[in-house]
Amino acid sequence: MLEIDALRVQLDADAGLVKAIDGLHLALSRGETFALVGESGCGKSMTALALMRLLPENGRYASGTVRLDGQDLLSLPEGRMRGVRGGRIGMIFQEPSTSLNPVMRVGDQIVEAIEAHTALRGPAARAKAIDWLARVGIPEPERRIDDYPFRLSGGQKQRVMIAIALAAEPDYLIADEPTTALDVTIQAQILDLIRDLQRERQLGVLLITHDLAVVSGMAHRVALMYAGQIIEVAPAAEFFAQPRHPYARLLLQALPGTARRGEPLAAIAGTVPPLWLSFAGCRFWPRCDKAMGHCASTPPALTEEAPGHEVRCLLYSQPGDALPRPPVVPKAQPQAPAGQGAPLLEVRDLRVRFKLKAPWLYRGPRHFDAVDGISFALPAGRTLALVGESGCGKTTSGKAIVQLLRRQAQVSGQALFDGKDLLRLQGDALQQARRHVQIIFQDPFASLNPRMRVAEVLEEGLVVLRPELDAGQRQARLHELVDQVGLRRDALQRWPHEFSGGQRQRIAIARALAVQPRLIVCDEPTSALDVSVQAQILNLLRDLQREQGLAYLFITHNIGVVEYIADDIAVMQAGRILERGSCDEVLTRPRECFTKTLLAAVPRLGVPRR
Ligand code: SF4
Repeated sequence: MLEIDALRVQLDADAGLVKAIDGLHLALSRGETFALVGESGCGKSMTALALMRLLPENGRYASGTVRLDGQDLLSLPEGRMRGVRGGRIGMIFQEPSTSLNPVMRVGDQIVEAIEAHTALRGPAARAKAIDWLARVGIPEPERRIDDYPFRLSGGQKQRVMIAIALAAEPDYLIADEPTTALDVTIQAQILDLIRDLQRERQLGVLLITHDLAVVSGMAHRVALMYAGQIIEVAPAAEFFAQPRHPYARLLLQALPGTARRGEPLAAIAGTVPPLWLSFAGCRFWPRCDKAMGHCASTPPALTEEAPGHEVRCLLYSQPGDALPRPPVVPKAQPQAPAGQGAPLLEVRDLRVRFKLKAPWLYRGPRHFDAVDGISFALPAGRTLALVGESGCGKTTSGKAIVQLLRRQAQVSGQALFDGKDLLRLQGDALQQARRHVQIIFQDPFASLNPRMRVAEVLEEGLVVLRPELDAGQRQARLHELVDQVGLRRDALQRWPHEFSGGQRQRIAIARALAVQPRLIVCDEPTSALDVSVQAQILNLLRDLQREQGLAYLFITHNIGVVEYIADDIAVMQAGRILERGSCDEVLTRPRECFTKTLLAAVPRLGVPRR
């Protein structure tokens, strides 16, 4: 058993002492999947790092123990701990692009793990590495084993990370957002693989994720974290059927899907408090819709409300009168525009061709058509979702439309915006068009300049594309933007590295909104976000659309989000649009087998663990 007892982890930060984990108890058995869920910044990933003794340099264990089969890991010499890390406990990190060694072939990285922790060596280890690449769904594993990470898509890199973690055949696996970057079919494959290994090898899995549907299909038990503490822990079925903590209830109401189409999602007011604060009472008090007078001064303890179901809330241990708090009433939404008339964006026969570097004797094709003649129209005020597996050309299409591939690829066809072909614009005309067409990138880590403060990141576009604004107006716009995306105003003076992935994505969204565009290419804009922030962002995108008639080309693999936000869907496979139609039509009556498979792979809340 892997056990954490009364663990406290603190970090020295400029703002003060951050109590990242504050008195955590947790036990994971072999063969069990225990899910840790909660918003960014609540301590989930820090718990994983603390388990592996991988705290950042400014971190320390203030108290508590971590035991693996009775052995105290915190007092183990580093040499022996290295055998535990990777050998007994494998870990899949959240961010594959920074976790793989960029100058090492992926095969060598898997072989390294196999040779370090198993008896296999040389060709046998390489054969095993190929086998693992095949098991995690990498096509042509014999060829891809010699690729460097930069040649793989985000989803493929994550699969390699999973192969490295599993190749050492660990007893426990810590999976920190293991499938966030993957499309649903690969996600289903990876989750099945983890389940199979769990059965085969009695693997204990600590699953850290913000995807509650994945948790519902995978976990035996669920713990909800908030501000460094566990606030509810329960068997998974019970957690989803009868959540007890007010925060848990709000989170489940914030999930998008068909049932909530056309209505605003329940948003949770405010943000997770910074953990350098001292808390007198309940940490959720400022955001709680059930708060009572004494909640602000009495810290609730974790109490057992049913067998195996513990809750940290005074509603159960010291009930009282609810404070008269105005409920969070989502803004009434104006009627959606009908979306008739001339399209705002019309894409005709778009093709994107990349040159392939090939050895001189190679006789095969010397190019690769990532996008192979797609056409669609997008009227103002509508959302078109481009869905499909990783590598099918969704992101490439989005980038080609905003002219981000000019130097790398040969782009042909037309992308008519307001009658002008975006693919042919240059100089001032291109700059003017960028005022109206913005993009939100998938990877919030790579899309922000690490040397610019948030205020500079947001102001840069305003200075260039909205020169009519003076300094005071720009400042007011910055405040409006951070409020809109749910960040605190002090965020403006901070650096991107000080934020979590979800917070960085909100900064990226604010940057796109800053110049008040008419069309936004949204490339997986909410895949790095928590459910509550995702609800805020989706509400925000819908409000902006209805107020200003914004059009979205929404590239995503999250079918729940598509069901909620999209008017039309285009399903892509191998660079082509396979099926296109209204959201209802495609989701309820898909014609193509591929679409049916894609929809069948979507994890759903309430579908129990297999
Ligand atoms: Fe809400 Fe009070 Fe319970 Fe905290 S203790 S979650 S403020 S009801």
